[in-house]
Amino acid sequence: MRRLNFPAPELPAGARKLRREVRAFLNEALRDVPMPGRALSWDACNPEFSRRMGAAGFIGVSFPPEYGGGGRSQLERFVVLEECLAAGAPTGFHWFADRQSGPLILRYGSEELKRAVVPRICRGELCFCIGMSEPGSGSDLASLRTRARRSGSGWIVNGTKLWTTNAQRADYMIALFRTGEGARRREGLSQFLVDLRNTPGIRVAPIRDLAGREHFNEVHFEDALLAEDALIGEENNGWAQVIEELALERAGPERYLSCQTLLNELLRILKARGAGDAAAGAVGSAVAQLGALRAMSLSVAAMLQAGESPNLEAAMVKDMGTRFEQSIPSLAQELVDLPPEASADALPYQQVLRLMTLLAPSFSLRGGSGEILRGIIARGLGLR
Ligand SMILES: Cc1cc2nc3c(=O)[nH]c(=O)nc-3n(C[C@H](O)[C@H](O)[C@H](O)COP(=O)(O)OP(=O)(O)OC[C@H]3O[C@@H](n4cnc5c(N)ncnc54)[C@H](O)[C@@H]3O)c2cc1C
Repeated sequence: MRRLNFPAPELPAGARKLRREVRAFLNEALRDVPMPGRALSWDACNPEFSRRMGAAGFIGVSFPPEYGGGGRSQLERFVVLEECLAAGAPTGFHWFADRQSGPLILRYGSEELKRAVVPRICRGELCFCIGMSEPGSGSDLASLRTRARRSGSGWIVNGTKLWTTNAQRADYMIALFRTGEGARRREGLSQFLVDLRNTPGIRVAPIRDLAGREHFNEVHFEDALLAEDALIGEENNGWAQVIEELALERAGPERYLSCQTLLNELLRILKARGAGDAAAGAVGSAVAQLGALRAMSLSVAAMLQAGESPNLEAAMVKDMGTRFEQSIPSLAQELVDLPPEASADALPYQQVLRLMTLLAPSFSLRGGSGEILRGIIARGLGLR
């Protein structure tokens, strides 16, 4: 039976200095951004901020230097992410590219593609989106129906992607399409790089979320023609590639720090008002959980650095982490008698609380739902 494994890594020698540098950069870059403007953090896009991050060397930290990266370890990258999330930095424009699309291209892309795209990711110039989910194919991803058919000059794509975050502003989508039949549904899938700016036949329609934001979309492919070399990796090997990609997507600190601005504001309010023992105990328990999740996430980063595939451990960080971050808005409401409030004269704490209360239900859906992750963990451990 497979056992769960979370070895405790040491941060590399340069991590402390790197942390100081990132913190100084963020203090300066975010000096004039008020708390409510920080609440969305990795969900907020600011292309200019991403370019500044790129110029400072804080994107593609673990990518090879020959493609513009920092050549550092996953653990040093972890330090950069952690500082960005703790400060509520608007990193959404480059987040997916840095986290998964860049690594995917580095692993499976052609040399020409790596040289053309990865340095631009590192400079914070490119926004990527992830085209996996479709109507009726979210949890059951292998049932997806959008099809890429070979044509004389490339591939013709028809179908619809759903919930595609940032498709309205992205330069590229990494998409999973059906390319073959195969005895099993997973066998006929392939990954493609879709140039969203220069491909006719692609229509992006926004979807509004509970908080009134339009950040995810429906993306319709209507006889969209992709070049022959848009295929990434091997034809019909898309499932294996996507599973690797999901390990990168699931275990990072963004899976338990999405409510960090709210937690910071809650602590500030409690301190100002003088927290009683019960509040101190509740906050202490939350911070202890945060510490445990951090140790687990750091451990996954170390396993990725060692070339392992910690899919089960990543699923566990995502499930436990998102349940933790979802608990913060209700903890805040239990401890402080101030309602969520949108108006400009409400306290920053109330504005952040409102936003996080509205968004928190989505935390355990994006990146794979809790039920599905627990199924993966149980199967991996031989329990089902
Ligand atoms: C904010 C946000 C951003 C997103 N961004 C992207 C993106 O950029 N790209 C992308 O491709 N997708 C994106 N998604 C989609 C996300 O991956 C899916 O929402 C998720 O995989 C769930 O799929 P679904 O919405 O189709 O729900 P369903 O699969 O229909 O599931 C609905 C509910 O039923 C439960 N359920 C389903 N099957 C089972 C089962 N077998 N056993 C037990 N319970 C089950 C699920 O856990 C869930 O609670 C995003 C979603 C959100 C909320």
